[in-house]
Amino acid sequence: MDPTIASAAEAVPRVAVEYDGGDMDCGSGLLLAITTRMRSIDVGEVMLLHTREPSVLADLPAWARLSGHDLLAVQPERPAAGPWRLWVRRGSPRTAWSAPAAQPAYSSGAPAPLGSRLWLYSNFHCNLACGYCCAGSSPRALPRLMPVELAGEAARQFAELGGRELLITGGEPFLHPQLDELTAVCADRTPVTVLTNAMVFGKGRRRAMLESMDRSRVTLQISLDSAGPTLHDRQRGAGSHARAMDGIRLARSLGFGVRVAATYRPEDVQQAGDLHRVLSDLGIVEDDRLIRPVAHEGFADGGVEITLDSVEPEPTLTVDGAWWHPVAITDDHLKVAESPLPLADMYSVIRDVVSVQRAAGAEGRSVFRCT
Ligand code: SF4
Repeated sequence: MDPTIASAAEAVPRVAVEYDGGDMDCGSGLLLAITTRMRSIDVGEVMLLHTREPSVLADLPAWARLSGHDLLAVQPERPAAGPWRLWVRRGSPRTAWSAPAAQPAYSSGAPAPLGSRLWLYSNFHCNLACGYCCAGSSPRALPRLMPVELAGEAARQFAELGGRELLITGGEPFLHPQLDELTAVCADRTPVTVLTNAMVFGKGRRRAMLESMDRSRVTLQISLDSAGPTLHDRQRGAGSHARAMDGIRLARSLGFGVRVAATYRPEDVQQAGDLHRVLSDLGIVEDDRLIRPVAHEGFADGGVEITLDSVEPEPTLTVDGAWWHPVAITDDHLKVAESPLPLADMYSVIRDVVSVQRAAGAEGRSVFRCT
């Protein structure tokens, strides 16, 4: 059927799923959204897509061809103008996919092969409210606690699928009242890294949670933005630098492996040299240091733009969904699924998207390193 013939709409089969893409183009999330919808219907069934974005008329035929689907018809909703309706029949998607090649990044490193690691948001509230927080966390943020049982089931499925490392982030994970149990059920399956600002685990119940963790299976990744307090406290709040330093020393004294992550805007990144010297004094080796840029997500008023095409996927679960990348957790365009499980469904959607991107020769993606 000629997809340019508007009247062909009358001839298409019954619509099994309908999606309004609004103004989204394929780079800003439409690709992910329609891939998810196509996976929800059977081969031979039809998706009806509404769009107001003219570039979709050029991109969708290529996506359909590369995905193994048939674009049946395109029809303007108003004569000679958009918005448009497009009917796509599900074919047998091409599933060939291989691990992405290494690409340059802000900190050096290769992308983790898809499926090798998984991010879990344990909670979204935090004792801080950093100006660049990609998660929009603060003391007032809704906790959105991940139940221990959900984390355990995610870890089980992840390990069965061949996963090798779980990363627990937030918010501040040590504000989760059961972080010890949550970390333990994950560490039973794979090594775990807990991302923390290291400011709240010095005493009381949180100290006990920290001390209960298995040092052979749990690594701490601690945020420290500068050698001295000026920049760190400007970005994270007065007094936070000294408490983070105390936290690093405590974690090391308790026998934890410690990585340190710093976040810099371009105008500040020259300060990284001083930070490296301080980290050497603390005994943090170079492989355990990460210098990363601010991402334009959450509270940040600028920074690296995070899109499907600009970052490699780093699958991420929250209590209420699955996402393309942990720094894009406030961006609904990068939500992969409305439910965190089953994990295999999330991977299928992401692999379909990556396959199409690869097949189309998408270029320019980079690795936004978080570990
Ligand atoms: S960047 Fe980290 S420490 Fe700062 S508000 Fe966000 S979650 Fe909390």
